[in-house]
Amino acid sequence: VPSALKRITDTTWELPVSYKPGMLVPARIFATEKLITAMDAGVFDQVSNVACLPGIQKYAFCMPDGHWGYGFPIGGLAAMDPETGVISPGGIGFDINCGMRLVLTNLTEDEVKPRLRELVDALFYRVPAGVGSHGFVSLSHDEFCTVAEQGSRWCLKRGFAWPEDLEMTEEGGCFQGADASKISHKAIDRGYNQIGTLGSGNHYLEIQVARPENIYNEELARAFGITIPNQVVIMFHCGSRGFGHQVATDYLQLFLSVMERKYGITVNDRELACAPFRSQEGQDYFAAMKCAVNMAFANRQVILHRIREVFSDIFGRDPADLGMEMVYDVAHNTAKLETHVVDGRKRALLVHRKGATRAFGPGMEGIPERYRETGQPVIIGGSMETGSYLLAGEPGGSETFFTTAHGSGRTMSRHQAKKMVRGQKLQRDMEERGIYVRTASWGGLAEESGRAYKDIDDVAEATERAHLSRRVVRLLPIGNVKG
Ligand code: 5GP
Ligand code: MN
Ligand code: MN
Repeated sequence: VPSALKRITDTTWELPVSYKPGMLVPARIFATEKLITAMDAGVFDQVSNVACLPGIQKYAFCMPDGHWGYGFPIGGLAAMDPETGVISPGGIGFDINCGMRLVLTNLTEDEVKPRLRELVDALFYRVPAGVGSHGFVSLSHDEFCTVAEQGSRWCLKRGFAWPEDLEMTEEGGCFQGADASKISHKAIDRGYNQIGTLGSGNHYLEIQVARPENIYNEELARAFGITIPNQVVIMFHCGSRGFGHQVATDYLQLFLSVMERKYGITVNDRELACAPFRSQEGQDYFAAMKCAVNMAFANRQVILHRIREVFSDIFGRDPADLGMEMVYDVAHNTAKLETHVVDGRKRALLVHRKGATRAFGPGMEGIPERYRETGQPVIIGGSMETGSYLLAGEPGGSETFFTTAHGSGRTMSRHQAKKMVRGQKLQRDMEERGIYVRTASWGGLAEESGRAYKDIDDVAEATERAHLSRRVVRLLPIGNVKG
């Protein structure tokens, strides 16, 4: 921990502008004492680099799950003035609109357990996982461009969605202003056959149980559809696959070529390549990024359709009869134009969230009617071995432009984890503990061991104590498809 780090509250820590030349605002990190002590040293360096970016407002932030990332830390948050500020792909991530979706069932753990293997095996087949995996939806390049512009709305037209699914997706499953003429042929080529696929590594599709003793808030749990003891839910995590990665790569290259030469912007780290938001390059990236956002929404929507098919086949009942409604779908790698109150004044801001989840509080516009009183559901992963959380946005989120953690966050690199853990052995050990996991890669599985992540209970507790979001229910894994 740097000696300049000041304690603001027992969950808020600050690096003042004097910490590093060029800082325009202080940096703030949310963490308990325990989490800050163990914090990846890269976080302090990266979050203070972000504090130097043109147009940044208030603070450069890092969430309690923070760790080293490309340019920005994972768990990074930065709001820019759209008129004077920049847009930076490093503040969004390569996996544009990586996000989490939570789906209900009205089944109990006892009903699912006897069919668990069958379910996970079928899901493993129907939701292809692994690097470069292809989906079962075949699209022309042209139709893929339609998906990129329409997101979940395309899915509804194609019969992959229930109308209420869109309502329960951030932004209705479509960012307005996506423009497919701003994406490269190479990006389309990488993405057009990847709709309905999970991807690799950290991406997962998990069958989970809400045990009565793990409910933190009865009222909110009920409002979010958790109503039966030991209810089974499905949580999945994936993004825009190779498509989003290519969009990010294309624009990083472009930004590097114009940033200094054309716009006179210098940054502390090449990975923070950026362009003025109002520039042609900035606007083109914003429109292209939205295509990747929409592709990711469509991807998760088609996956939901497959999950409903699989449950329906195995239980011989209609998905509606199985209560397979969405709780919510929320992104954690985006930049969005939003209105927030800053120093008592309403302002438009370009909010970069990178490994950070939007967590709108009660009464806010932009969340479904059903959640107006409760605040938005926030879905965060923990690990395949330990558990995950459903939380709710709360008024205290105003401090972070209504943003919270997105997971537990890594404590060790993939490389380190792989040296410590054997994939096959881990699978057997997990099975003994009642978690059946299928994976596309043993090495990939080893990298995802619970030991490679922070304690999710610590992270969830920190978000609640910092008033960024409140705990609703802790969810335990029983089955998992791993990329
Ligand atoms: P990221 O978006 O940064 O790749 O990861 C999101 C979070 O998901 C990680 O910080 C980790 O806490 C969580 N996570 C990764 N793999 C799994 C998994 O298999 N199951 C669950 N429940 N969470 C996971
Ligand atoms: Mn991702
Ligand atoms: Mn993610």
